[in-house]
Amino acid sequence: MRGMSWIPNRWRRRRDAAPGALSRALLEHFPGIALVVDRQGIVLEASVGSEARVGRRCHELDEDPLGGALVRGLAGCVAAGGDWQGEVRCRIGGERRYQLAHIRALPAGAAPRWLVTLCDVDHLVGPARDEHARLRLLEATLGRLPGAVFRLRQTPRGDWRFDYLSAGVEALCGLSPETLSAEPRRWLQRVAAEDREAVEGELARSAIGLTPWHQSFRLSLSDGERWLEARAEARRVAEGETVWEGWWLDATERKRVESRTEALVSTDMLTGVLNRRGFRANGRAVLARAERHHRPVVVAMLDLDHFKALNDTYGHAAGDITLQTFAHICRDCLRPYDLIGRIGGEEFAVMLSDGDPDEAQGIFERLRETVADTELVLGEECLHVTVSLGLALVPPGGDLDEALNRADLALYRAKQAGRNRVVGP
Ligand code: GH3
Ligand code: MG
Ligand code: MG
Repeated sequence: MRGMSWIPNRWRRRRDAAPGALSRALLEHFPGIALVVDRQGIVLEASVGSEARVGRRCHELDEDPLGGALVRGLAGCVAAGGDWQGEVRCRIGGERRYQLAHIRALPAGAAPRWLVTLCDVDHLVGPARDEHARLRLLEATLGRLPGAVFRLRQTPRGDWRFDYLSAGVEALCGLSPETLSAEPRRWLQRVAAEDREAVEGELARSAIGLTPWHQSFRLSLSDGERWLEARAEARRVAEGETVWEGWWLDATERKRVESRTEALVSTDMLTGVLNRRGFRANGRAVLARAERHHRPVVVAMLDLDHFKALNDTYGHAAGDITLQTFAHICRDCLRPYDLIGRIGGEEFAVMLSDGDPDEAQGIFERLRETVADTELVLGEECLHVTVSLGLALVPPGGDLDEALNRADLALYRAKQAGRNRVVGP
């Protein structure tokens, strides 16, 4: 270290650095630290109060507490001319504080000199940096959450805007937060076509009633379909302007489990066709579709004839195999999208999902014949079974249970008329 020192309470006057009275007065009242240095950073003069602020006498710019940034700034000024300005962190008065530093060449004398000033900006920069660090931590934490946190805004003109989107959105829908912020409508374009109307409808309802947006919907992505669950609270921020704050979660696995569970609780374990619950749930969906197209639907009740006698003669196991074989024949004779349900012991129901009701009689006649013609070989035994059927028509908007009751009455007539026959609607 070259042995220069600070002289705290007055400017040590040098031959080549003789500031005028005004500039000297300014420097003496300068509320920060002001130093005059040579090209090597040796402190030639120090303003009044500098030493007191730093906490000790300082000889060179690269000494602690001023540190390396000022030395690099000075080197730049020396090499390229011009000024330097930067934010440095120095240990001032025993604590590390942010300083706004300027280095300027002083008017040339016999030897070049530079004026180094440090203004304490710790009260401004410190909180801002702490805030920034907190935001980065929050951002990183949100980015690691499964799903995406968002703040979505709809303007009075109906335009969408993302005020905030966490990084997880990219894994969810293949679009980065930056892309979606620039082109907000693209998230809606990724919603599967069959769910888009429902999503827009639900958001409109939420915006009008300021009710929460809770909805599951599908996204159509290049690698397939993904279920998202939206959970957000709606707020009115201005006339006609709504903001939703919440998150999207990947609900694909949950939906898979749900649909597996749904299939299990809707299936008859013995025959593999729908059970009563599954038949009713699926039947209602078919009827709703038919109603939209103003079409009637045909339902049938089917009951195996003299099944008790078959059980009593050949045993319950033979009865079970007969039920399985009957379900198999139904599946073969009907189309894949017709519904078959086992709704009682040896009672089944069928719903033809579309087609001409006039053709229904023929379809069920063929089914009846196939059952009657089927030989069931059980060891030494060769069994025959017949089925009676009652049909009913469900008009558009009609009730399923009421139609099944009518089909049951028709079935009763088929039994009365001697069994092994179809009684039409
Ligand atoms: P009908 O021609 O009038 O229909 O006479 P049915 O004997 O078929 O009618 P009924 O209702 O008297 O008998 C139905 C029988 O179906 C009684 C019951 O033992 C049998 N059954 C019900 N569920 C099962 C089952 O899961 N397995 C077997 N093997 N038999 C069953
Ligand atoms: Mg019965
Ligand atoms: Mg029976």
